[in-house]
Amino acid sequence: MADRFMELAHHRVAGRLIRALGLPRPPVLARAGGAWQEQPLLGSTVAVGTTPGSFATRAVRDVLSAGGAAVRDGAPAEPATVDGAAFDATGLTGPSDARRLYDFFHPLVPRLAQNARLLVLAADPDQAGTPAAAAAARGVEGFVRSLAKEVGRRGATANLAYVARGGEARLAGPARFFCAAGSTYVSGQAVHVTEAVRAPASVPLHSALRGKVALVTGAARGIGAATAERLAQEGARVVCLDVAAANDALAATAARVGGEALPLDLTAPGAATRVATTLRDGHGGVDVVVHNAGITRDRTLAKMTRDEWDQVLAVNFEAIVALDDALLAAGTLRDEGRLVYLSSVSGVAGNFGQTNYAATKAALIGYVTAVAPRLAPRGVCANAVAPGFIETGMVARMPFVMREAGRRLNSLSQGGQPQDVAELVTFLASPGAYGITGATIRVCGQSLVGA
Ligand code: NAD
Repeated sequence: MADRFMELAHHRVAGRLIRALGLPRPPVLARAGGAWQEQPLLGSTVAVGTTPGSFATRAVRDVLSAGGAAVRDGAPAEPATVDGAAFDATGLTGPSDARRLYDFFHPLVPRLAQNARLLVLAADPDQAGTPAAAAAARGVEGFVRSLAKEVGRRGATANLAYVARGGEARLAGPARFFCAAGSTYVSGQAVHVTEAVRAPASVPLHSALRGKVALVTGAARGIGAATAERLAQEGARVVCLDVAAANDALAATAARVGGEALPLDLTAPGAATRVATTLRDGHGGVDVVVHNAGITRDRTLAKMTRDEWDQVLAVNFEAIVALDDALLAAGTLRDEGRLVYLSSVSGVAGNFGQTNYAATKAALIGYVTAVAPRLAPRGVCANAVAPGFIETGMVARMPFVMREAGRRLNSLSQGGQPQDVAELVTFLASPGAYGITGATIRVCGQSLVGA
């Protein structure tokens, strides 16, 4: 839905008034359009820095160069700018060398272009040799989250990848995602890159889903429709599922993505088995499942009816577990599959009037942590994404004051677009995401809620 303040802030006359009143002007965010390119960083300059003893510098450098970036050491001389930066802090040993973060970023921050992308790598604190090294690695997270808040007003993002030993060989996917335009609304996040999941046979970095079959639930509109579109752009054959009442919109999505419409209420008796059978018999299985369908029935707990509680639990939690169980029981989920679950910042932080909704969205965070190690030997990754305020029909129903608060109270001072969530889901659905599993990644512009 339209963000009128954003439009006014960038209007020639009204924008001047808004600045005179001292109100923050939300930056215009850069977004990737369409399918992944072989060289998404072509034409950009990325500064790279490292610490002595780091083990991922070469890997990240190679990824950035292969992505088309001109890689340079440290901050450029004035007045040149950089479009991004990657700093390898995996060698930090304790308080004595933590200042290397300051030394690299202090001169760099004034040189950052609009919409710059910053990625910092740290060692996995659990693998650190000493408590001081573990502390230094964990300290990087506080640094990155704070830096993300400072650069957000320029539309820039900053994210952290904890890299386990051996995980550096799996950085191509994450580094390309966090350093390119697709990570527009993902900022202040920390992911773990590990060797937990069996490596896929091949890791294409564009046309990443060619030959794959994807199921997207709740695909008629909003985030689901945008996700179906992005997965199809990467080459997936997409089965678009939604309730029969949304049939026209569902058919339109399916036609747009060259996929197939599956009108079905996921809470209907036998629905999960029907989906599993349809995918197995019609497509020989499924590679990517995006559990996106979700509903809200907001009310304070004292006033909430049992029906409102049950409906939300049925769609947002029960139907998801039932569908996974059916896909696994029928052998429909293929090896090297990707499961992505739509959680929510409400599930991370809780939200007034959303005890039912937040219970389900937090349940999904626990679910991926438990499911991921069970499926890792088959090369399957299971991750959740937690959107913050995304401009869809779901938020259009919110009261005005809550809607404005949701939009502004984040480092980018605006809501995200369905496409922003779709970009993160598409990355997690790709073979190149094999270093990340059991994670919940927020796509919230670094919302203050639960941060
Ligand atoms: P939306 O309401 O625009 O779309 C949800 C879709 O799910 C609808 O098309 C709906 O018909 C479908 N659906 C609902 N119940 C179903 C059922 N029983 N069977 C099949 N389909 C069903 O929502 P959205 O904003 O696009 O959100 C998508 C997901 O992202 C949801 O899980 C939501 O909780 C989550 N999310 C959204 C936001 C946001 O700001 N929009 C924030 C956090 C999380």
